Amino acid sequence: MTQVMREKSWFLLLLPVLVLASLCSRGQETSAEPAGKTFSTSTAPQAPAALLYSQIRSVGLDASRVFLIRDASIDRDQLHITLADGTIAFTEDVNGRVTGAFFAGEGEILLSPPDQAERASMMLFTGAAILEEQFQTAYIRFNDDSFQDLQPQLRPFDQGKEFVATWNATAKNLAEPDALRLLLTFSRFLPEERSTSHPQDELTAPASTLGDRYMHARIGSAKLGTMDAYFDSLAPDEISVAQEKQVEGYGYYDVLAAFSPKIARVGSFSLEKRPDEIAIESYAIDIDVRPPTQLSADAHLKVDVLQGGARAVLFELSRYLAIKKVEWAGRPVEFIQNQALEGTQLARRGNDVVAVVFPRALRAGEKLELTFSYAGDVLSDAGAGLLYVGARGIWYPNRGMAAADFDVRFQYPQGWILLATGRRVSENPEDSGTASENKSRWVTERPIPVAGFNLGKYTKAVSKAGEATVETYAASSVEKSFPKARTETFDFTNTPPGRPHSSTITVEEPPPSPARNAKIVADAAARAVQFFAERFGRFPYSTLQLTQMPGPISQGWPGLIFLSSYAFLTPSEVSRLHVDKVNTILDKQVTAHETAHQWWGDLIFWRSYRDQWISEGLANYCSMMMLESESPAEFRVVMDKYRQDLLRTNKAGAVLKDAGPVTLGLRLSSSQFPDGYEAISYGRGTWLFHMLRTMLRDANAMLEEQRTQEIKHASPEPFVRALLKVRERYAGKPISTRELIQVFAEELPPSLRYEGRRSLDWFYEGWINGTSIPRIELQGVKLAPKEKSVAVSGTITQKDAPRDLITSVPLYAVLPGDRRVLLGRVFADGPEASFRLSAPLGTRRVVADPEQTILSRPH
Ligand SMILES: [Zn+2]
Repeated sequence: MTQVMREKSWFLLLLPVLVLASLCSRGQETSAEPAGKTFSTSTAPQAPAALLYSQIRSVGLDASRVFLIRDASIDRDQLHITLADGTIAFTEDVNGRVTGAFFAGEGEILLSPPDQAERASMMLFTGAAILEEQFQTAYIRFNDDSFQDLQPQLRPFDQGKEFVATWNATAKNLAEPDALRLLLTFSRFLPEERSTSHPQDELTAPASTLGDRYMHARIGSAKLGTMDAYFDSLAPDEISVAQEKQVEGYGYYDVLAAFSPKIARVGSFSLEKRPDEIAIESYAIDIDVRPPTQLSADAHLKVDVLQGGARAVLFELSRYLAIKKVEWAGRPVEFIQNQALEGTQLARRGNDVVAVVFPRALRAGEKLELTFSYAGDVLSDAGAGLLYVGARGIWYPNRGMAAADFDVRFQYPQGWILLATGRRVSENPEDSGTASENKSRWVTERPIPVAGFNLGKYTKAVSKAGEATVETYAASSVEKSFPKARTETFDFTNTPPGRPHSSTITVEEPPPSPARNAKIVADAAARAVQFFAERFGRFPYSTLQLTQMPGPISQGWPGLIFLSSYAFLTPSEVSRLHVDKVNTILDKQVTAHETAHQWWGDLIFWRSYRDQWISEGLANYCSMMMLESESPAEFRVVMDKYRQDLLRTNKAGAVLKDAGPVTLGLRLSSSQFPDGYEAISYGRGTWLFHMLRTMLRDANAMLEEQRTQEIKHASPEPFVRALLKVRERYAGKPISTRELIQVFAEELPPSLRYEGRRSLDWFYEGWINGTSIPRIELQGVKLAPKEKSVAVSGTITQKDAPRDLITSVPLYAVLPGDRRVLLGRVFADGPEASFRLSAPLGTRRVVADPEQTILSRPH
C-alpha cells in the first residue's frame, strides 16, 4: 500500500530565476500546457527590447561566415570543448555582434567535476565519473568574444551556402533557449531613452558587461545523445552539464554535474548565493478573485537596486497569468513574457519568466516602484467548495527566496471565505461596494519569503496555543476526486502538474466530512505549536490558519497551512485508507510537519537549492521529535521505514540512496529517481538531524556525569540549544548548510572534536554531502578485568562505505540483566579503527549503537 498523503511545500515553487537553465526537472504533463503560447510583449510602438529579443531568438547562420576549423578549443575553467576537425558557421549579426555558431565534424567535450558528490552524479547518469565525450555537432551560443578568439583556427571554406542550407533550420530552432539570458547582456547596449519621467544622469555611464560571461553548447553525440553544457558567470553553479530525457511520457532535465569553479578551489562546502541585483522590499497587491479559476491583479512592488548596470531584470510568474502592462513610476516599460524551457523546474512548477526592460541602466542604491497588471486562470477547482491556489504556479511576480512585506487587498464574491498570509486588518468595510462582493485586506506582521491565499466554503474551528490562535477551515465534504466506492483505483487529478499519484485504496461510504473534524485538527496543530514554541522560540505570527486543500498534498506558508483533506479524517476513516501501520502514522504526522515549517522553511529559509534540504529534513525531524515524545515505538517504526526506503532499488537496479546527497536538492528528482528529492530530503535529511542530535546528547551525557544535578537540568539538550541559536540569528533570513553546521559545531563537547577541532567538516563531507549507509560492526573485542573496571579494546569496521567515511559511534557495555551503559562515543575513521575504553566491572560484552542512532545497515 502506498502512502497516500504527500506534502508539497511552496518552496518547490520558488528558486532564483537565473538558475533556470541549470535546474533539473520532473515530468511536465503536456496536457497542462497552454496551447500555442510563445512569448508576448508590451505593445508599445517603439519596443527596442522586443525587437532585440526577437532577433536573438531567431538568428540564423551567415553564409559568408562559414569556415573549416581545426584544433580549436573553448575552455571555461574545468569545461573544455575541442573542435578538432570540421566545419563551423557563425550566426548573423545581432546589433553588430556574433552570438553563436554551428559546428559539424569531430569534437570532444571534457569535464572533470571537482568533488565526490558531483563525480557520483556524473557516474549515475553517464556511467563514468568524468565526462569525456566525442560529438559530431554542436550549437554554441555566447555573449563574449568567442568569434574573435577562434579566428586563428579558421580556414576558408568554399561550400558555405550548402552548409548553411543544411543546418540553418536547426540552428534557428536552437537559438531560442538562450534568448532571455542573452537579452540580459545585450539589452545593456540598447540606446537609453531620454525622458523627463525617469531620473537621468547628466552623463550616462557606458554599458558594461564586466563579469557577465555566458556560453552554452548544445552537443549531439552518438553515445550519450544530446546534452547541454553551460558556463554562466551569473549562475550560482557557473558550470553545469544537463540532458533532456523522456521516460514513460514524462520529460526530465537531468543535471549531470553542476559546480562553481571558484568554490571548487576553496573546498566543496555549500555555495554561497551571489547577492541578487535587486531586492523586492514590499508588495501592495490589489486582487480580484473570480472563483472557480480566475484572478486579475495589480501588484505594486517597491524595489531596491543593489547592483547597478542592468537594463533587464527577470521575474517569475505563473504561465497561466498574462501580463497586460508593467509600469515604472506610472509610466509603461517594456516587458517580455517568455515560456520557460520545457522540462525545467520552472516550467514544471507552472511558472514562466518575465523580463522587464528599463529605459535606462539601473543604478545601485536607487529605489524603483513597479506595477504589474495581469490576469488569468491560476486557480484550480476541486469541487465541493474547494479551490487550490498554487497548483498552477505563483500568483505574483517574484525573484525567488527573499523576505518582503505584503499588503494584499482581495475582492471576491460573497459566499466564499478567504484566508491569506499576514494578519487580516479589515474585512467588508462599509465602503465595500455592492452587496454581492466581499473585501478583505491582509498585512504581514513581519517580512515573509512567500505569500499565499486560499478560499473555499468552509466551517471554522478555533484552538489556542499560548498567545497564538489556531484556526482551521474545512469544507463539509471532500473534493470530487476523493474515493467513493469501496475499492477503487483512482488518480489524484488535482495534484500539481508532473506529480502523478495513483493508488488503490479501500473506503466505505458515506464520504468523510472534514468540517466535523475541524476542531480535532485545530487542537492537534495547537499542540504542535506549543511543542515547537517551547523549544525553538515563540510562534512567529499571531495566528496560524489551516485550510482544507483538495488532494493528498499539503503546503506550509507563513502563518497559513494548506492541509490535505486526508488530514481531516477521523482515525477510523484513516485506518480504512491504509492497511499498514506506518502510513497511518505518517498521515497523522502531516499536521505537525507542516506546523514545524512555520519555524524551518518559513521563518528561516534557505540560501541555494543545495540548502533546501534543511527545511524539509529539519521540519520533518522536529515532527519526529514530537512523535518520539508521545510514542517512542512509533518513532522507531517511521525511522526504520525511512532507512528501508533509502535502500530500495529502482527498475534499473540502482539504490535510491545513490540518487545523491541531500545537497543536490531538487536535482535528486531525475529520470533515474523521479521522487528522489522527496525521498532523500525527508528520509536521509531526517536521519542526519537524528544523528546530530543523538551524537550531541550522548557526548553531553558523558560530560554531565561529572556535573551536579542542578546544572544538568539548567538548560535544554544541546541540539535544541543549537536550534534556538539558529532561530535567534537567522529569523527572517536564509541559512546555508555551512552556516547551520557551524552553529552545531559551537555545541561540540571535547569528545566530539575530530582531531581536536571544533568543527563538523567531517560530518558534512561524509554524511551530509555523501550517500553512504555503512554496515558498522565490532571485531576482536577484548575485555580485560582490572581492579575497579574492565579495560575494553577492539576494532570498529565500516563496510559498504567510502574509505574516508568518518562516523561517531556510541559504544555500550552490556551488564548482567542486559542492562546497558554508554561507554562513550568513538570515531570510526575509515574501514577499520581501533578503540580502547574503560567499562564498569561486570561488563559482559560491548555493543555498537544498540539504540540505532546512526543511519547504518541493520545487523
Ligand atoms: Zn515539508
